[in-house]
Formats: sequence, C-alpha cells, structure tokens
Amino acid sequence: MTRATRILVVALALVAGAVAMVPARAATTTTRPATSNSSPTAPAQVQLSNLSKKIVEASREESELLKKLDAANARKSASAQRITELDQELPAAQAKFAAASERLAVVDGELAVAEERLSRASAQLKFGKSALKQRAIDAYVGRPDASMLSVGVRVATFREYVALRQYMNAVIRTHTRIVHQYDDLQRGAADLQDAVARRRAEAKAQRDVVARERNNIAAARTSQEQARTQAASSAAEAANLLKEVRGRRAEFQAKYNQLKAQSDAIARLLKGRQSGQTTAPSGKGVLSSPIPGAAISSTFGPRVHPIFGDVRMHTGVDFDASEGTPIHAAADGVVVSAGPQGGYGNATIIDHGNSLATLYAHQSRIAVAAGQSVKRGQVIGYVGHTGYATGPHLHFEVRVNGTPVDPMRYL
Ligand SMILES: [Zn+2]
Repeated sequence: MTRATRILVVALALVAGAVAMVPARAATTTTRPATSNSSPTAPAQVQLSNLSKKIVEASREESELLKKLDAANARKSASAQRITELDQELPAAQAKFAAASERLAVVDGELAVAEERLSRASAQLKFGKSALKQRAIDAYVGRPDASMLSVGVRVATFREYVALRQYMNAVIRTHTRIVHQYDDLQRGAADLQDAVARRRAEAKAQRDVVARERNNIAAARTSQEQARTQAASSAAEAANLLKEVRGRRAEFQAKYNQLKAQSDAIARLLKGRQSGQTTAPSGKGVLSSPIPGAAISSTFGPRVHPIFGDVRMHTGVDFDASEGTPIHAAADGVVVSAGPQGGYGNATIIDHGNSLATLYAHQSRIAVAAGQSVKRGQVIGYVGHTGYATGPHLHFEVRVNGTPVDPMRYL
C-alpha cells in the first residue's frame, strides 16, 4: 500500500468517524416539521460535522501533497541516476577528446615542418631558376660583353670567345641540372605537404566529432542538474506544505478528541447526579421540540470506525435555525449547568428526572442559570454558533443516565 493510499484510507476512516459527537453545521434552510424528518428506527444517516469535514479536507490535501512529493522525488532520483551515468561517460569522452586533440597537435607539427620544407624548396627553386635564366640570357640572347664581364674574362680573340662560349654552356648545363633537382625537391615537398594537410583535415574532423560528443554529454549533465535542482525544490515545497497540512489536521483531531472528552465528562456528571433515579420509558411526546418547526440537518447515529474499530457517533441531532432563534426547554427540569463547555460552546444541561437529561449547545446567549428550575417550553437561550460550529444551529442531546440516546425516540 502506497503512502498516498494509506492516507486515503485514513481520510475515509475519518469521514466515517466523523459521525462524531461533533455538532454538525446546519446545512439546509428549508423549514419542515421535525417529526416528519425521522423515525426512531431510521438508520443512522449522519452528515459530516464541520470539524470532521476539515479533517477530511486536510487529509485529502495531504494525499495530494504526498503524490506531488512522490512525483518530485521520483524526478529527482531519475535525474540523479542520469547524472551518475553521465558522470561515468564524461571521463571517457574527455579522454577521447584529449587523445584526438593530441593527434591533431602532432599532425599540426608535421604539417608545419612540411610547409617549412616546401617553402625552402620553393625559394631554392625560384632562386635557381632566376639565376639560370640570367645566365641563359647572357650566354645566348643578351649582351655577351656584359656576360663576359660578369665572369671576369676579357675577350681578346675568337678562340678565346669560343672557349668562353663552351665554358658558359657547361656552366648552364650544370645549372639546369641543379634547377631540375630543385624542381624535384619542391615537387616532393609539395606532395608531402598535401599528404600531411589531408591527414590534418582527418584528425581535425575526428577531434570535432569527439568534441561534439563530449559537449553533448556536458550539456546533458547541465540540464539534468537543473532538472534535479527543480525537482528537489518541488519536493521541499511539497514537504513543507505537507508538514503544515498535517499540523492543521492534528489540530482538528485534537479538537475532536477534546469534544469527546467533554461529552464523556458530561456523562459522568449526569451519571453521578442521576444514580438514584428510576428510568422512564422513551416515547414520542416525552419531550417537546426545542425549536418547534425547525428542520433537522443532522441526525443521531453511531458508526464503527473502520480503522480503530470503536464506535464514534453524532451524539445528538442538529436543528437548523438562524442566529438568535429562541430555544425552549424540552420538558420540566432543573438546570444542571449553564455556561461555556469548550467545543459545545455556550451549553445548557437540564435534568428532567427519571434519569433523563437534555443538552443544548452552540447558543449565542444563555437565558438560565445552574440550579434554576425550568418549565417545558420555557425559553432557556438563543441559537448561535459558539464552540466548534461555523454556522448557527442547535445541537440537541438527550441523555439517559448520562449516555446520549437518539432524541427522535422522545420527540
Ligand atoms: Zn450536533
């Protein structure tokens, strides 16, 4: 059984328990004869008391909050789980990225060397070509004198001229060979540079792939971290509200328990007082209605509490009447007590003899005093909503030897 389900069961138990001796708030405003409302054998059809409603509402709220809390906690653990996974994936991705970066750096180095080599080869070739060109121009096309001057030879004879030509040709041939070598060298360097550049492009592409992998993992981790933080704050919020709502419910429950204790105290008081009295038989008309003509908004009835197994009940009937409506004594008797009674508010208890007593709760004003004798039908007070009641109504009890009985058996 989940926590939420347990809470729901508790809530239902409270609904059932709410039968209560707690006076219920008047729910109807129509006026009809009280006698037509119920018979002595009518099943205990009990409305929720206002207090019990509050307990149920608090329990329902609690159940909702528990659902929220569970959901937030589930989200939180899912995020935490994912973060753990990502934290395990991240170092591997980081290592792959580092390795790829290193490979790229090595190839970058190789490329720099190749580029330097190519540049040197190109410079040598250029220089060689320009020198060769100059010599060729000097020897064949251009100014032989200048050419001869440039080699520091003075031409004196035709023989010398021919010898010089031969010499120049030899020089040019040698030079041409060197230029071809430079040319080969440059071509080789260019090929090398191309190859290294291709390898570099591959290494960079690889590095970019693993960088994206690593960045994706890091980004996923960041968003999971945010989700976890959000879930944690939702959980904290729900937990706070839960604490508040549980406090509220405990407060209602305490009031409920207090009412029960008060009812028991009244029972003890009447038992002590009426111990010697005989018990008169019940019957319609033994008592008269405290508010003739008022509708009954909540009847008397016991219920077995589904969890605790004890019987909790609404210990009287509630008469729907507006504030200030006069309340009449149900029979001749002596006022046992008249004054504030905690959850009952301003309450009057009248001993009618023959072990019979009546109680009138939530009055706005009490018109009699303890010890005073009253006559049937005499105004003893006025309807109000003192004690645990939000709306004005009369909570009316009939007790035999202190024990609450169904007033409808006497009215
Ligand atoms: Zn009541």
